[in-house]
Amino acid sequence: MSWYTKNSVIDNVKGEGAHWTTTYNPSDAVPVSGIYKCLACKKEVTSNKGDKFPPQNHHQHTTAQGKIQWKLNIRTNTDGE
Ligand SMILES: [Zn+2]
Repeated sequence: MSWYTKNSVIDNVKGEGAHWTTTYNPSDAVPVSGIYKCLACKKEVTSNKGDKFPPQNHHQHTTAQGKIQWKLNIRTNTDGE
């Protein structure tokens, strides 16, 4: 979970675009800049468009948690819209 304060400026959008629903594997190309959450353990990373997600050894899971899967949680407004 990401945190914000009453002074944060965050807009709720419809979430259109595959980048909101797709899950990404370690070392996949990052589609849009933002904060991504690992679905298995809730750890988050900030990743920039065009970079790669952290490698498989970024953090460890228990067998029960399964593999690392990154999903977009907060998108960065890099266009200043
Ligand atoms: Zn994880």
